[in-house]
Amino acid sequence: MTTVMRNAAWIAAWDEGAGRHVYLQNGDVAFECASLVHVGGRYDGPADDERDGSSLFVMPGLIDLHCHSSSQPLYKGLCEEVGNPELWWSGLYDNKLVFDTDADAIGPSTEVALAEVLKSGVTTLVDLCGVYDGWVDLMGRSGLRGYIAPMFSSASWHTPDGRNVSYDWADDDGRAALDEAVATIEQAEAHESGRLSGMPAPSTTDLCSERLLGDVMGLCQQCGWRFHIHASESVHEVQEIRRRHGVTPSVFWPNRDC
Ligand SMILES: [Zn+2]
Repeated sequence: MTTVMRNAAWIAAWDEGAGRHVYLQNGDVAFECASLVHVGGRYDGPADDERDGSSLFVMPGLIDLHCHSSSQPLYKGLCEEVGNPELWWSGLYDNKLVFDTDADAIGPSTEVALAEVLKSGVTTLVDLCGVYDGWVDLMGRSGLRGYIAPMFSSASWHTPDGRNVSYDWADDDGRAALDEAVATIEQAEAHESGRLSGMPAPSTTDLCSERLLGDVMGLCQQCGWRFHIHASESVHEVQEIRRRHGVTPSVFWPNRDC
């Protein structure tokens, strides 16, 4: 079945020759099942379903690279309201934790989030969350092409006084959580829908030891996976990584030749 978006007002397209994305105007976008067959200009091939794109910005191939479906519908704007001025307006280390999603809310929150992104035109996303029962099946039922991205870390953070951040390092350096993440990714890749895959998500640069990150990169090379991490998420994190390693989180990578 071929679907055509006719005369899209704007298209974000990939220019193979230039090696970069470009904006196109007033063009057609055609796709057949999961494959794009035409982007920009006039499409004169067979079409089973034609839609008017004249008021739309079409982004063929867009993948929402970062989604916390299990929690964000419940935060919605709340975290932005409770930033801590003593920690450069980040609410990550104290206030956000007050609104953490409990076990009963994870499933409904995820369903709301996935419905919202589908309604917005997203067909593929990377879903970051700690492993929970039913995650893979829920993603499978959604119809999305989903990258399950189980989060794990070597440590957790807290602020004892609202001005400083302390790290509680796990005895196993996060290995058990990494093993659970790997098992969940393998479960996703084996899902009957064929639309699911996964990638490890070491949570942030400051919560993961250099050794854990190096092991994750080695695992990804071995399995052909990508991985996903928060880097430079807060001023505090940038300062902490500069203190530990003398560089910013964006350039801090163990085994850089990987
Ligand atoms: Zn995030």
